[in-house]
Amino acid sequence: MPINTACTFIEARARFIRAKNIKHKFVVCRVLLLLALLTIGYPQLLRAADNPAAVQYSVSIPDPSKHIFHISMEIKKPSSVNVELKMPIWMQAVYELQTYGEQVQAIKAHNEAGAAIELTSVNDHTWRLKLNQLEPVIIEYDLDVGDKHKLFGKSYLEKQTALLHGGSSLLYVQTERRKPVSINFKLPAGWSSAAALDGDAHAATAAAATTTDAITYTARDYDELTDSPIMLGSFKRTDFNVAGIPFSVAIDTRIHHSSAEIIESAQKIAAREISFFGGAPFNRYLFIYYLTKDTSGAGLPASMVGIEHLKSTLITVDPAFDTSPRSTFAYREVTAHELFHAWNVKAIRPAALNYPDFDKAPVVRSLWLLEGFTEYYAQKFLAQLFGDEKHEQFYKQINEDLFAAELPVSLQQLSLQSPTESIDDFSLLYSKGTTAGLLLDLKMRQATKNARGLDDFMRTLWTRYGKARAAYDENALLKLLNDTAQNDLTDFYRKYIVGISPLPLSDYLQLGGWTLKGQKIKSPFMDFAVAKNVVMDVAASGNAELSGIQLGDKIIAVDGTMLDEQNTFGKLVAKRGIGAKHTFTIERDGGKREEIPFKYETTFVRNPTIAELPDATPEQLATRRAVLSQTNAAPASAQSNGSN
Ligand SMILES: [Zn+2]
Repeated sequence: MPINTACTFIEARARFIRAKNIKHKFVVCRVLLLLALLTIGYPQLLRAADNPAAVQYSVSIPDPSKHIFHISMEIKKPSSVNVELKMPIWMQAVYELQTYGEQVQAIKAHNEAGAAIELTSVNDHTWRLKLNQLEPVIIEYDLDVGDKHKLFGKSYLEKQTALLHGGSSLLYVQTERRKPVSINFKLPAGWSSAAALDGDAHAATAAAATTTDAITYTARDYDELTDSPIMLGSFKRTDFNVAGIPFSVAIDTRIHHSSAEIIESAQKIAAREISFFGGAPFNRYLFIYYLTKDTSGAGLPASMVGIEHLKSTLITVDPAFDTSPRSTFAYREVTAHELFHAWNVKAIRPAALNYPDFDKAPVVRSLWLLEGFTEYYAQKFLAQLFGDEKHEQFYKQINEDLFAAELPVSLQQLSLQSPTESIDDFSLLYSKGTTAGLLLDLKMRQATKNARGLDDFMRTLWTRYGKARAAYDENALLKLLNDTAQNDLTDFYRKYIVGISPLPLSDYLQLGGWTLKGQKIKSPFMDFAVAKNVVMDVAASGNAELSGIQLGDKIIAVDGTMLDEQNTFGKLVAKRGIGAKHTFTIERDGGKREEIPFKYETTFVRNPTIAELPDATPEQLATRRAVLSQTNAAPASAQSNGSN
């Protein structure tokens, strides 16, 4: 999508795209940034003979114009004669399930002597081998990354550049997954590479010594390797240090935007985020900016997509991004969002994201924290680093997210459903989550007379879990919010994080001397949640609550039509337009039936925007300043970066 269209997106993590909320008939424009964290490793001298890799991948590119990588994978010491090869269907940072196995072609296996080993296909992402004896086995396959495969997070290969995204491209064997691995490239003449992995740009192996285009990287295991995208081909690489940590920026030479600007912004953002946390979870970091018309890999209309990795990020950029201020903002937003994920996702994470089963989607309830708060911080940091005194850009960005604040959707449910939900629903996590972050920040500042805020909550997560490399307990987040606010936020958490209630914008924005502007219309929302015809949640002060619908009510009929397999609740209410009334027949209190007239009687602000109160009190102004100001980790906790 050209950036000069009405909507532009960037997101990181696997999808940010144009947010069009079809369900509620509001079109929203946003940029999604996909953030990725990775480890950038710079080449350290390593002799092939010393390489302890249990699995060794070799990648060649016979003809870049054919979009096919040739990959060989050697398992040095199989633990069984029965070997099960797999391609992930779930990849870190992408969150939704993808059929990456469909890219595998001409797969075959043989031993070191070249004798063929029988290989059978089990399903679209699993193959089985039966070895004659326990000996090294080599699997070879072509990986077709051409346009016909619409897969989020896939690899790219074009005439002068390529990007190997391991989680969508490299087969694995579960029993070998936590053992050291290496990956060797034989590249077309003149190609370079960069990755946040330990490696040797010119490995002195006998075989590779004759070509200058052979490169080997090593990783502690498959997960580190596949959490480290590898940039290949023609790009400009710039190295710098921030707080003693080596950073690199690899920019596709086809990118139109100013390299100097991208690098300068990345430096400032890195300095801000490291100061904020007082340390970093990486010992080096790589930003990759890659140009492609299919920024998601899935053919979705995203214009800039960031995917976070362990010590790096892959940011794919549409050619329409030029040198305009709007492009500059998009680059900065994705960069800030993705780098923040190095802490918030890669270090601060629930157990479900540690060595997840790549054969299914992990169950994560707290993406509102991992994605929503990450985006909130991207906006705050950009305002602090590049904004003006009137906070115009900050307000503009907050306004783009406000539409979702009033939607009766549960942040926790959106998180749980992320593997299968639509991009539109997924994007609500970012927009409603960003605003939830702002409201909690305001509440914490106001409750503590600006002694503490959401910044302290994030730093506690970092020091308690991220630095310690300990997964956080998703059930402990409320207590941590309460401790930070020195206030009981249970009601907020229950209604607005777990529940479907619209965020209480006006009540909370006024804490910072802000108000909400916009056209008030009758609320169009069927604002209660139903499972198996039983009411599971009712939005606070919404249409359902005002109509008298209660938790636990069992709906028997809608407008006189009894519910059954044909006439489902969703189907019966979907037929009615906004403004219609319904009569629900419900059972409650052990079977007593009642007729409940449902009316759309609450108001909703269409196209809401934030505005400064002209008569804000000194207290409100102090809270606003506190929310927008830079805070850093206390010197005592400002230790040097962790290692990996
Ligand atoms: Zn993200």
